[in-house]
Order: sequence, then C-alpha cells, then structure tokens
Amino acid sequence: MLSPLVEMPVYSRWPLEIVRASGSYLWDRAGRRYLDFYAGHAVAGSGHCHPRVVAAIREQAEKLIFYSSALPCEARERLLRVLGTLTPPGLTRAFFVNSGAEANEQALALARRRTGRSRIVGFEGAFHGRTLATLVLAGSEHYRNLARAGEAGRVLAEHVRCLPWNDPEAARAGIDEQVAAVIVEPVQGLAGARKADGEFLRALREACDAAGAVLIFDEVQSGCLRCGGLSAGVEMGVQPDLLTLAKGIAAGLPLGAVLATTAVCEGLSVGDLGSTFGGAPIPCAAAAANLSALSEEGRGRRALVHGARLARAIAGMPSVVGVDGLGLLLGVRLEVPARPVIRALLSRGVLTGTSADPHVLRLLPPLVIEEAEIELFLQTLEEVLQISGEEQ
Ligand code: PLP
Repeated sequence: MLSPLVEMPVYSRWPLEIVRASGSYLWDRAGRRYLDFYAGHAVAGSGHCHPRVVAAIREQAEKLIFYSSALPCEARERLLRVLGTLTPPGLTRAFFVNSGAEANEQALALARRRTGRSRIVGFEGAFHGRTLATLVLAGSEHYRNLARAGEAGRVLAEHVRCLPWNDPEAARAGIDEQVAAVIVEPVQGLAGARKADGEFLRALREACDAAGAVLIFDEVQSGCLRCGGLSAGVEMGVQPDLLTLAKGIAAGLPLGAVLATTAVCEGLSVGDLGSTFGGAPIPCAAAAANLSALSEEGRGRRALVHGARLARAIAGMPSVVGVDGLGLLLGVRLEVPARPVIRALLSRGVLTGTSADPHVLRLLPPLVIEEAEIELFLQTLEEVLQISGEEQ
C-alpha cells in the first residue's frame, strides 16, 4: 500500500481536533465545546461560520469560483465599496494579495519604488511574516536568523535598521533621508499585544514626513475592527501612507490587502504588482460579507468596550502584572509562565494564545463575543490563576 506523505514538523500541534465551530465556540470530535479566545490567530473576527459569510461563499462558489484579476469581478467591486466605507481618509487605492507577508512585501516594494531608496526601518519585537524580506525585519533573533541562513537574506539584512520599541527619540534619530519605509505594527501582536504609545506613532509620522520616507502600518493582526477601526494606528490618531491587512479580513479565506495613498501609487503601471490568486472572487465575496457584518453589527466599537472591560477585570486577578494592547488584542503579563496557564485554560474548555514573551498570555477572541462569554472567560481565568499562584 502506498503511504501518505508526512507533513513537515513545523507546527507545535495542540492536543485537540476541532470538527465544527459557530460564533465564539468550537467543538471537538467527542462533542466537547471550547470557548475561543484565540480566533485561529485573529482570523475569525466575525466568529466562526457567520451566516452572512457562509451565504456569500456559497453564492459565489455557485456562480464563479475563479478567474484572473485581469478581468473585472463583481465580488471584488463589492469589497472595494465596503472597504471604502471603513478606510481612513487619504488611503484611496487597494491591491489584493493572499496573505499578510505578501501584503507587507508589496507594501515595501511600493515604498522602495516611490522613494528610490532601499533602507527599511523596523522595530524590536516586530513580526511581519516569513518571506525573506519580511523575516529580516523581525524584531527577534530567532526569525532574523532564519533569513540570515543564506546569502540573499544577509544582503537584505544590510538594508534594515531595527530601532527600539516605543522610543520617540530613537525613532527621530534613526529615520533619515536614506530610509525608504518605516514599518510598524501599531499593536505588536506576536510580541505580546504591545500597544504603541501615541507619542511614538506621532514621532514616526513626523520623522517620515521630514525624511521623505513612507510610513507603513502592518495591521495584519490588529486591523479589521479588532482594535476599533480598520486600523489601530488610525484609531490612535495617526495616518499611514500604506496599510496592510490580512488575517481578519475574509473570516478564514486567504486574502490580504495593501491600501495606499494616491501619492504612493503615482506612476504605477501595468505589471508593477501582480498575484494570480490575490483578489479572487470567493475570498473577496467572503471579505465583503464579513466586513459589512462586522460594521453593521457595530463590532469595532464593541471590541473597544469589551477589551476595556476584560483589561480592567484581569488587572485585579492573582499573578497578573499588567494588561497591554487595545480592543480585543490583549496581552496579559503574568508573574508565572504563560504556557501552564494556557494548558489549564484549555483543560477547562477555553482556548487562548501564547506570544514571543513566555510570561504573556495573548487574548484575541472573535469580535462577536458577548457579555456571557466574557463572564465565563473571566471566571475560568481567575480560577486558573488562583490555582497556579498557590502552586508556585
Ligand atoms: N504581520 C503581522 C503583524 C502578523 O501577525 C503576521 C502573522 O502572524 C503576519 C504579518 C504574516 O501574515 P501571514 O501569516 O498571513 O503571512
């Protein structure tokens, strides 16, 4: 008998098999229910299997599964209209890709093309994806070393400057006229939901304006209403020249977007960007339904209210040092290691996330979370923290 292929051992697999999901809940093969406070890496913004998203996917699949973006597409037009209602003023152009890393690659390419420069500024703790050009921008040695394993990665790394996080003075000093782009997550996801200070983001905007550099907000994790609006950075009062989105945009279908100012796209011509699957009909139909549902249900505002409620309640719990983040992208810093807490929550039917910081528990529930689910989560977390504190 021929044997099946074996997957490469690159994921640390969770000890559960999910076979069904709805709203903020998941069910395993044995029928056990889990409350999802992770949303599959911040993807399930409108929850799992939102009826409007399911209907849009089904309807589109029955009409047209795929044709190239070289042709006009009704679903893409619909998505452009929905995005237009949510996009901050100034961002007028969109280009669709398949993932967060690809969105960031294309944003960096646009910035280099616009400025004719090659240097990129990133920040400690950052994560922008796993292509060579995004890995060299990672704010941690582990990811940077993956890129530096080859000569091409080492060459790219020479064009990168990594600055300290949340340090406006260092930002002003480090952004000069050699810089093509500054790329920043207004809330750093993998680092543990670390929110940028308003003063820091404003310093980046001013320094980019003074140096003629392009400011890119990577909102692959923090965007799509998770932190209030389409962009967490804009929510904090700062406008980027380029904004990248993915994860939560299409409720689980592969789609990323690069949104840009008219100025950044000046002189852009046919063939400068491209992607076979980027902006395909089914992901676009799913994204238009997902973003319309989130926006009509007022989920962005509610994400801010729920996030503030969670942060307040968690801050007073045993072993909690502090809560960082914005909206429903929160990092809970613990006196104890986060992994055993995550395992204990899972054994009680609650899914949460790790981060690059071993003491930070990451919370990114679906934006459709309701009061009762927040209460259930808080009760379970308090119980787990009480026990883990006593065991120390
Ligand atoms: N940017 C940020 C802020 C992310 O959190 C991620 C993924 O975790 C990426 C980029 C890469 O996205 P993708 O895995 O879709 O390439």
